[in-house]
Amino acid sequence: MNRGPGAGETPLRAAAVVVAAGAGRRMAGGASEPPKPYRTLLDRPVLAWTLGAFEACPAVDTVVLVVREGEERRAGALVEQGRFQKVARLVTGGESRQESVYRGLGALPGETRWVVVHDGVRPLVSPRLIEAVLAAAQEAGAATAAQPLRETVKRQRGGWAVETLDRSQLVTVQTPQAFRYDLLRRAHEVARSEGRSATDDAALVESLGTPTRLVEGDPTNIKLTVPGDLAVAAALLAAREGSWPGSLEVSVGVGYDIHPLVPGRPMVLGGVLLDSPVGPAGHSDADVLAHAVIDALLGGAGLGDIGRHFPDTDPRYAGARSLELLEEARSRVQRAGYQPTHVDATVILERPRLLPYVDRIRQELARALLVAPARVNVKAKTHEGLGPLGRGEGIAALASVTLLRVVQEGRAAGWAG
Ligand code: MG
Repeated sequence: MNRGPGAGETPLRAAAVVVAAGAGRRMAGGASEPPKPYRTLLDRPVLAWTLGAFEACPAVDTVVLVVREGEERRAGALVEQGRFQKVARLVTGGESRQESVYRGLGALPGETRWVVVHDGVRPLVSPRLIEAVLAAAQEAGAATAAQPLRETVKRQRGGWAVETLDRSQLVTVQTPQAFRYDLLRRAHEVARSEGRSATDDAALVESLGTPTRLVEGDPTNIKLTVPGDLAVAAALLAAREGSWPGSLEVSVGVGYDIHPLVPGRPMVLGGVLLDSPVGPAGHSDADVLAHAVIDALLGGAGLGDIGRHFPDTDPRYAGARSLELLEEARSRVQRAGYQPTHVDATVILERPRLLPYVDRIRQELARALLVAPARVNVKAKTHEGLGPLGRGEGIAALASVTLLRVVQEGRAAGWAG
């Protein structure tokens, strides 16, 4: 693969289309959760990292940002807060990625000769990679960042591996992708007239018979797709060599909660309803596990405790779903610059047996915390008949949450400060 421009070569100036108009269905969080491009990654929204790379790339002088319908104001505020001076236009995207790119192309300045297309949810893109792809496109007409496959690739059918493919002939393709403007425009026009769709722009150009030059991409240039990707991206960003003037701080919070058990109350644990004739008495849904995790989360970020954030005296929290409070606590913790990465919890109860529910509980907690379920561990213990817990008069939970934060010269890094 082409390793990009040599020393001293300066690519021609280009325009960029950054597409942030996807529905993000695989990253669905709570109803109050912002869409993927606006989720917090370390100390700023995902999209702010992406736009920052283009802002810092000398080869690009204009950026058109394509956003989902209804998110124009949110995107405009982000551009303003980040002082992204290259963002010339904000365009409302379409139903498909292809339609969104097409609309972005139509909004570029008339004199545009070279264009880079990039996914807004690939925040780890570097200015160097953008330049390398542009330089290759300026030689070949079309170029894309791509990665060789590191693992053995098989064709599968119905859950069975049936053939091993020659991975030396295969690559995975990322963005940025760069093109001669008229070539990409024509590829889109032809695809539209033929009702053809593709998942990337290089495929449209290929179907005109123009091959796309491959430029070795960056394995850390990941596309944020599922909730766990945010934590991975945070760690990668924080560790990025030479590009982040801070260090990574790890903190751990602990939480504990206990409620009496009474007949006729639902037993909700980690957002999951258990089959039980008794349930914890309390102000909200009395989900002891969620409460212990909230306390651990807030504690790890130095933000006090659940009572301070969600007071019992506030009528809004009467009968509240504690999992929604957990989501809100996670959002507050993230706004303070912390990224939860791991949870370990123990529930102490005599009955029912927790094991049949553990996987669902882990999934619910993981969804609320925007981490992968593998990062959430839930254990159950009986109290061996000792004391009130042992007599089944109450239920208790203990939790620890591990959080990451980027520290810059002794303080949390802020953006556009
Ligand atoms: Mg409680």
